[in-house]
Amino acid sequence: MIKCLICGYIIREEIADKNKEAIPFANSKQNIKYCPFCGVDEKWLVESDDRLLGDKLELNDETLKIINHAMKLEVFNGDFYKEASELCLNKENKSFFKSLSNIEYTHAQVHRRLCKEKRTPSLTSLNYEKFRGKDELLLDEALKREEHAINYYKRYYDKVCNDEVRTIFKILSKVEEDHIYLASSKK
Ligand SMILES: [Zn+2]
Repeated sequence: MIKCLICGYIIREEIADKNKEAIPFANSKQNIKYCPFCGVDEKWLVESDDRLLGDKLELNDETLKIINHAMKLEVFNGDFYKEASELCLNKENKSFFKSLSNIEYTHAQVHRRLCKEKRTPSLTSLNYEKFRGKDELLLDEALKREEHAINYYKRYYDKVCNDEVRTIFKILSKVEEDHIYLASSKK
């Protein structure tokens, strides 16, 4: 059994290649280097039932607010990628955006666990019609979204009250950096 200490998912061999289009390494059954659900690297994958990072913390109101906003930001990006996978033309981009969407939604779930919200929120859906058939623009928009997320984690790094939350911000930023690398390589 392999468990991810960030998103809490159990990674079975059969699903090692889930979301592979948005993971910087081709996971195989024998060699799982990244969590296929949240995209973190193997440092956070364990073979025991350890406590999840950031579990059962007492957090102050300001920190809860910052995490709640991060949750919404990840849903916002997840929604965009879901739309992008419908709007783009290229088949590879379609699966890339779909996988990105799944990973960002998992990030939202990580935040939901931290700030103890019952549900992941649904946001007002935006009209992305202007991007239809424009893969290049969708990839540009993806880069902006990722940079925005990284900047958010950076901006609030010192404002949260707990080191484990800070570590999670750092780890998720690293995943967003991987997304920038992957999206740039598709342009
Ligand atoms: Zn994970």
